Amino acid sequence: MRFAATRGILMPQSLKMRIFAICFIGTHVPLLSFVARQVSNGQVNGADLAVLLVATLVGTAGALYGINALLSPLRLSIEGIDSIGRGEPVSIPPIEGVDEISVLLRRVNEAAASVQSRLNTLDHAAHRDPLTALLNRRGFFAEVDPLFAARVGGAFAIIDLDRFKAVNDQFGHAAGDRVLRDFANRLAATCGRDAVIARWGGEEFVAFFPRATEADTQVRLAELLRSIETMAIGPAGFPPLTFSAGLVEAGSESVERTAERADAALYAAKRAGRAQVLVERDLVARAVAT
Ligand code: GH3
Ligand code: MG
Ligand code: MG
Repeated sequence: MRFAATRGILMPQSLKMRIFAICFIGTHVPLLSFVARQVSNGQVNGADLAVLLVATLVGTAGALYGINALLSPLRLSIEGIDSIGRGEPVSIPPIEGVDEISVLLRRVNEAAASVQSRLNTLDHAAHRDPLTALLNRRGFFAEVDPLFAARVGGAFAIIDLDRFKAVNDQFGHAAGDRVLRDFANRLAATCGRDAVIARWGGEEFVAFFPRATEADTQVRLAELLRSIETMAIGPAGFPPLTFSAGLVEAGSESVERTAERADAALYAAKRAGRAQVLVERDLVARAVAT
């Protein structure tokens, strides 16, 4: 306990005070020696002592100012490292010097840039499908969850390529991959910037059109269906590529429940002969009529 108290005085917690203590001792040893010498000689010279005291005070103030200036880059580094920890951008200005503190600040900037770039790479890998570059399921939920939470509503579709296995069987997996990529590009171009589209898995895709009506979305997807028939996927004579889609209105239900309803509509579209966009509402009307 005594040691701790002594250590507190000799070695203050703050780095600034520690450096100041060292400077203080450094500047006061000559002063005290001078005073001790004059006292032991019995000839204390007041004027000399005053000059020395003022000079020491000015030196001490200068030292304090200098220490503060020297420590400010360290404070910047701490703020920078804290920002890295919080995943926020680091705003240390570019540093040119070659002294240790400039090098430290540059390293903090470089570390922040490297962490940010790795985070971006990881984020991309976690949320994107590598084959089509569309969002994957996780990425889709990340984008759509807030829209559902805000109850913006809209149209929700699950789209499945028809008889896609035959493409792989006849032309090989690489050709199948090419078709998936081409289809993803067309889907993205057709759906527009507001839509959130993703590869749901395999040859299945999902699209959410915020604030859109089922009717408008059905027209849009029907256009896509017509346009992909012209996609070259094999030699002439091979049946054109088509898809089936289940389309539902998104309301107050969760994304998962909405996807289940769209999946049911998709299943009905497959059973009804494929190559069509089936709207849940029509399905219900049909069920009531029979
Ligand atoms: P349906 O009209 O009933 O949907 O028939 P389908 O042949 O499209 O469906 P099925 O589920 O029988 O087969 C899906 C095929 O999609 C089988 C699988 O090999 C293929 N597939 C899934 N993912 C990929 C992929 O990443 N690349 C390629 N080339 N093929 C894939
Ligand atoms: Mg299929
Ligand atoms: Mg499928």
